Amino acid sequence: MKTHIISDNGNKKPWTIKMLSWLMLLILAAIVVGQFLLPNEKKKSEEAELLYKGSFVQVKPDGTLLQINVPTKLDVKKGETLVLETILGGKIENGDYFAYNSTHQSVHVYLKIPGSFGTDIKGDEIFSYDTTASPFFGNNTASGYVFVPMNQAMSGMVLRLEITSTDGYRKNAGICYYGNKGDIWALIAKERALGLVVAAVLTVVGISIIVVSELVRLKVFKRVIPISYLGWGAFACGLYILCESRYRQLVFLNYSVVANMAFILLLLTPAADILFINNVQKSRYRNIHTITFGIVMLTIIVLTILHLTKVADFLQTMFVNYLVCYGAVAEMFITVIIDYRKNRASEYKLLVAGFTAQAIFSALEIVLDAKGLNIHTGIYLGIGSLIYVLLAAYNTASLMLEEEEEKRKAVAEGEAKSMFLANMSHEIRTPINAVLGMNEMILRDSKEPSTREYAKNIEASGHLLLSLINDILDYSKIESDKLEIIPASYKVSGLVKELENTFRPKAENKNLDFYVNVDPVVPEHLYGDEVRISQIAINLINNAIKYTEKGSVTLNISGRRSDKETFNLRLDVIDTGKGIKNTDKGVLFEAFKRVDEKKNKNIEGTGLGLSITSSLINMMQGEIIVDSVYGMGSTFTAIVPQKIEDEEEIGNFKERIENEHEEVKEYKESFTAPDARVLVVDDNRTNLTVIRLLLRDTKIILTPVDSGQKAIDMVKENSYDLILLDHMMPEMDGMETLAKLREEMPELNIPIIALTANAVPGSKEMYLSAGFSDYLSKPVSGDMLEAMLRKWLPSRLIKS
Ligand code: ADP
Repeated sequence: MKTHIISDNGNKKPWTIKMLSWLMLLILAAIVVGQFLLPNEKKKSEEAELLYKGSFVQVKPDGTLLQINVPTKLDVKKGETLVLETILGGKIENGDYFAYNSTHQSVHVYLKIPGSFGTDIKGDEIFSYDTTASPFFGNNTASGYVFVPMNQAMSGMVLRLEITSTDGYRKNAGICYYGNKGDIWALIAKERALGLVVAAVLTVVGISIIVVSELVRLKVFKRVIPISYLGWGAFACGLYILCESRYRQLVFLNYSVVANMAFILLLLTPAADILFINNVQKSRYRNIHTITFGIVMLTIIVLTILHLTKVADFLQTMFVNYLVCYGAVAEMFITVIIDYRKNRASEYKLLVAGFTAQAIFSALEIVLDAKGLNIHTGIYLGIGSLIYVLLAAYNTASLMLEEEEEKRKAVAEGEAKSMFLANMSHEIRTPINAVLGMNEMILRDSKEPSTREYAKNIEASGHLLLSLINDILDYSKIESDKLEIIPASYKVSGLVKELENTFRPKAENKNLDFYVNVDPVVPEHLYGDEVRISQIAINLINNAIKYTEKGSVTLNISGRRSDKETFNLRLDVIDTGKGIKNTDKGVLFEAFKRVDEKKNKNIEGTGLGLSITSSLINMMQGEIIVDSVYGMGSTFTAIVPQKIEDEEEIGNFKERIENEHEEVKEYKESFTAPDARVLVVDDNRTNLTVIRLLLRDTKIILTPVDSGQKAIDMVKENSYDLILLDHMMPEMDGMETLAKLREEMPELNIPIIALTANAVPGSKEMYLSAGFSDYLSKPVSGDMLEAMLRKWLPSRLIKS
């Protein structure tokens, strides 16, 4: 299976979400380290009153002066220096600050005497803010409020600001404040607090979604749930706004670290969204989403390397960042539009509405930002994201709950079906057991030809009925993945002989010619699941005979080696029957699907045979091919790889089976055990009689009892060599009887064999784990019963 971006099942997290969460953790770690271990820009101070919101003169390079009020836009080219001077008022207190809002600008502050106002005399440098403030990260200073400490002695002096744009990004002189630091912050906070709240809410919502979905993953669903991607997206976006905007100075100590992290967080937001959308779209656009996700991650890696090596820092490569972000969003939008046009978006209508709201708000953010009208950096983006996250979370959660409900129903239905099958199989097998058992006695005892003929017919019909039940059971086993392929050594000639013996009379009954051809090079001894191979052949030949009115049915056995040890056994079943329409070929292997029903309505069938056949072939890594001309006939070819046991070839099949030909022997018991004492427990008296009769000739001393309690009483008073114990009995069933026996007589050490009509998946394991020594499924034949007793009775009692 391909690696999916999203894992739909299993508790294993896909690599994408791992990568995303690790990156987020790294970013958080960088922010934390930045706050406490790296040099930081923030210098604390308190109280006093806001004095001044500034007016300056600009000292131009040619010496001319220009009266300006900040904030204003002045053309500052990259590398150029803007010189502003102001005469400080008289009310400066100790502890006051002069604050300047720098946007990627180096700021140098000088103090000089009043007489030098408006000249190019610099005076004494009292403060500087440039890239040396954040030496580890990039070429540009982080934007932020620069606080210049003041004191009373500065009253009346000239304050000279030299502002150099490091990137030419914002051509303006920022807002200046002059006053008590606490007040300055209060003013900034008043302007910015709303954005701070939105960013904080988004971050908290994101973290909460991640935590809840992790808990749900671990405790309930055991798989990654799609909402967690949304959580990561919201977290990244919230943190981005916090880190990117000016109020980061209110929250963080080291804001150049967080400012740099903002660039990565900006890219992580669409990355998480891609994973989320992909999941919601049920991986319909997996390939394109994977590529986009890969591009985003690659961009993060490349830009980070460029930044850290100071080749080009995040600010300088920001256009790439934006390009990739918008590209990713556009890609998602296109898939949503495609879904919308194909009417597939209805499932996630609300999410699309949220997505659109986010797009509109983001556009608003960009426009207002470009026009310099947005003081709450990120607030529109934040509001848009919040709307999106809440709608999308609601949408996905309700979808998920619906899906879970459907799954729960399906499981409940599946269980009910299994139960029903178990009961039905029990109900039908019990009487067949009696019929076939009694019939076997007739065949053993009667020498009268017509009676034997009738009995043979009963036997054939009984077995047909059984095979029908087995088909249904096999289907349910395949459905619940409980069917196993059990390989063993077998002889190909034996398999083919069985098939020929079974089907030649059937074909001849319908006046069809029946041909069997075996390629002499086929190995005689193969290793595989003979029972299932024969089941495949039986299904195909059965159909061929069923759906052919005149002509012939041919079974060809051939194949070729695929390597030294493997032989691709090939079975061709060719008929001259009705054939199959081309249009029907597609559904042929679907369960319960019968084709051409009008013509076939008189032919019995369940529509399960080919479905089981193709499942069996698939399980054995083989293939099935249908070649059919409607009205002319069909060829079904099954090819199954089998291990080669030895080099002997089958040679001439006809000669081989003639040599092996055995006289059809009359029944003869395989052993006698006149001293063996066996207790048989079954509530059904006919079954007790059948077992007694089937074992008659072995001379075993049988004690039949019809309830669990009676069995326990008998075991306490007598000694037995083996117990055959029926499972389904009223009052105390076989399981309970066994448990009670083990409890009341812990020293009891004889084989106890479960006898049951319950042949549903998992039965064998169930009986063995309950403490039974072995398990016999009804209807039991004399041969099966004898083989089981021979295996478990103490050898000293067996006389051949
Ligand atoms: P069924 O129990 O109906 O035979 P299968 O799964 O074995 O179920 O087959 C599915 C359908 O395929 C049948 O109902 C029949 O219409 C068609 N079919 C199968 N084998 C043949 C064949 N040899 N010739 C014509 N039609 C066939």
